[in-house]
Amino acid sequence: MGRRRHSARPRRAQRRRPDRSRREAAWRTVAAEFRAVKPELDHLFDRLLDNRRAQAAAAELPDYRAYRFRRLDRLAYGPADCLALHEAIAAEFVPLAGRVLRRRAAALGLDVLRPWDLGALPGGPLVPFTREEALIAGCARAFEAVDPEFARQFSRLAEHGLLDLMSRPGKAAGAFQVHLHASGLPFVFAGAVGRHEDLLTVLHEGGHAFHALACAGDPLIWNRHPPIEFCEVAGMGMELLAATHLGAFYDADTCARAARHQLEQLVLFLPHAAAIDAFQHWVYTRPDEAGDRATRDAAWLAQHWRLCPGVDWSGLEADRAALWQRRLHVFELPFYYIEYAIAGLGAVQLYRRALAEPAAAVADLRRALALGARARLPDLFAAAGLHFGTDRHTVRQAAAACRELLDL
Ligand SMILES: [Zn+2]
Repeated sequence: MGRRRHSARPRRAQRRRPDRSRREAAWRTVAAEFRAVKPELDHLFDRLLDNRRAQAAAAELPDYRAYRFRRLDRLAYGPADCLALHEAIAAEFVPLAGRVLRRRAAALGLDVLRPWDLGALPGGPLVPFTREEALIAGCARAFEAVDPEFARQFSRLAEHGLLDLMSRPGKAAGAFQVHLHASGLPFVFAGAVGRHEDLLTVLHEGGHAFHALACAGDPLIWNRHPPIEFCEVAGMGMELLAATHLGAFYDADTCARAARHQLEQLVLFLPHAAAIDAFQHWVYTRPDEAGDRATRDAAWLAQHWRLCPGVDWSGLEADRAALWQRRLHVFELPFYYIEYAIAGLGAVQLYRRALAEPAAAVADLRRALALGARARLPDLFAAAGLHFGTDRHTVRQAAAACRELLDL
């Protein structure tokens, strides 16, 4: 539980032309690596498709999507709800994302963004910390501002040696949080090197850790594993709640810039998540067409054009057509991605509510976290004072909140 999504944000954000050239060179290096292994990845995916089709047939289900939705215990929503969510995100968030991109281009002094500009933080790079002690102390201060009990819990994990946050030679990449059921304590693993993104990762995993602690007392271990959609409300929500309290790392202006960037990233992420999911719905409900590599890439491109416009990909069409291969979920965890979009909608609601009535928002969140898996997904959202939904109205409300908070 609690594995965090990994974004392709470059290591440093830049605003000057020489840095932009460097960013482009880095992006092109990565793209060339993916181009080199595309035939291999295509072959691998063809084999996965065959195996998955056989799995669905063996289970006497019409297609692999039906099989996978059962395996993922999706009781609160089905394929039609996901398709509705894609449409709603296309209608409500894509125009908003366009405005974020245009404003970001202007802040970077550009007419239009190229793919290598997407991770650049207007205003220049941030280096919030260099040592783990400073990272832990600063995050504890941010959590303290959200709720003093979160800060006490985080410090307790540090005292028990349960925060392994910094990168070092030989250490695996990635970040996650796991329950240690015998002790009832969570363990947080990360590979921080001093970037702003590393700080956000720790806030995110901190949200998962507080969730784990809230339901650690349940005698039944499986009740300590809530639906992943709500786990990610805890993770993504904590990123937003704590990102406004980074005074241990930044001055007031930079805090405001970082908090704003955080919400903008979520606005950009929701259409991306919808594209990844929509592509997989296409793949597993059209097995014959999906077996053709060119048709498959074209289907991805159609989703990317629809949901992720506003970036200049000219001359990079082949890289754009192969973008879906950069998402490990498509290979290893089919259909596991829309959870982040559903959780993102909850996180926006939580953030909005916490700005208006912080004490009530955090108290309700705590109560919802403590339910663990002893409530249905919509009821977990409701216990936290949030609305669960994949419909147009829910998405429109979240988009309106983002528009207002970002003054778009
Ligand atoms: Zn997470």
